[in-house]
Amino acid sequence: FFFLALLGGIGSVWGAVLGAGVVLSLKQFLQDYWLSLMGNTSNIEGVVFALLVVVLLHKARFGLWSFVARLLPSSWVNKPIVVQAEAAPLVKRSLPTRGADLLQVKEVTKRFGGLIANNKMHLTVKAGQITALIGPNGAGKSTLFNCISGVSAATEGEITFLSEPIQNKAPREIAALGISRTFQHVRLNLDMTVLENVALGAHLRGHKNFVQSAWCLDKSEEQQILAEAQRQIQRCGLADYQFMRAGDVAVGQQRIIEIARALCADPILLMLDEPAAGLRHAEKIQLAELLKQLRADGVAVLLVEHDMDFLMSVADHVVVMEFGQWLAAGTPQEIKHNPRALAAYHGAAL
Ligand code: ADP
Ligand code: MG
Repeated sequence: FFFLALLGGIGSVWGAVLGAGVVLSLKQFLQDYWLSLMGNTSNIEGVVFALLVVVLLHKARFGLWSFVARLLPSSWVNKPIVVQAEAAPLVKRSLPTRGADLLQVKEVTKRFGGLIANNKMHLTVKAGQITALIGPNGAGKSTLFNCISGVSAATEGEITFLSEPIQNKAPREIAALGISRTFQHVRLNLDMTVLENVALGAHLRGHKNFVQSAWCLDKSEEQQILAEAQRQIQRCGLADYQFMRAGDVAVGQQRIIEIARALCADPILLMLDEPAAGLRHAEKIQLAELLKQLRADGVAVLLVEHDMDFLMSVADHVVVMEFGQWLAAGTPQEIKHNPRALAAYHGAAL
């Protein structure tokens, strides 16, 4: 079965059909040929298939279907995605009162062997506000993001979201509670369109399972999800790119696609790890506008960023960390004049 999928083309239904046809015919042919040649039966096809696997992996990794697909009109192979904008909207969660304690990180320590990346770190994020987490490279900001989002568990300490402890929960459970994030290094499926990448963010909001999906019984839900993805893409100002391959879009825009994907999960808290890295000046201004719009819509944002001008223009509250520890916290103006925060940045950036 492995060879069947590999020969036809992994990831394509027609590839599997083609693979099945070729493999079964080839197997029959080899057995008949061997019988007529040697007068007995054997598993000669096993040897031939093993050799063919090696050849395929070298010469045609995407299987025979990729050659057939090239000969077909492109409108057959790449069916354009049709989005019915009028599809019923997905259920949205209600947002907590603005200013309420949303996320509380208490005494969180994260060790990697002997290295202490987070040391009794604490911070609070309030609902509907933009909180910035700053600190020099290696201060432990991304590590704290991973602890909060469940990507790697904190060694010690407590993290609560809407008063519920989440430090031992799996990433998908945390996402289901309303925390979405992006990564410092872009993680998109580059062969899928922007729209499909963003739609992936809504997978926890769908209820159809893979059996229903295999029998195409999820079409109405798929339309709801695609329409939601389209709304989030428009919200982020990427409407012109939605049908492009994600890999063909500039890195700066790929970061915004990640934000749109995170928004598709309908988050209460959006965590962004260096979203402005690699953006041009005009794009940074657009991103700042988007963050302000999200705040106006009641979404809380926790942001790691190095660009101080950008940060100071959007943040309500700033937390400074150094060597994995809490160093200072306050409004952007307070942090600008805080000697400890200035020293951590050598007075340069602030
Ligand atoms: P920041 O995002 O603030 O620049 P990080 O959280 O990425 O910093 O890293 C903090 C420290 O933890 C660094 O010294 C880094 O080398 C270390 N670190 C991060 N992840 C790992 C890991 N998976 N294994 C070992 N050390 C790590
Ligand atoms: Mg980092």
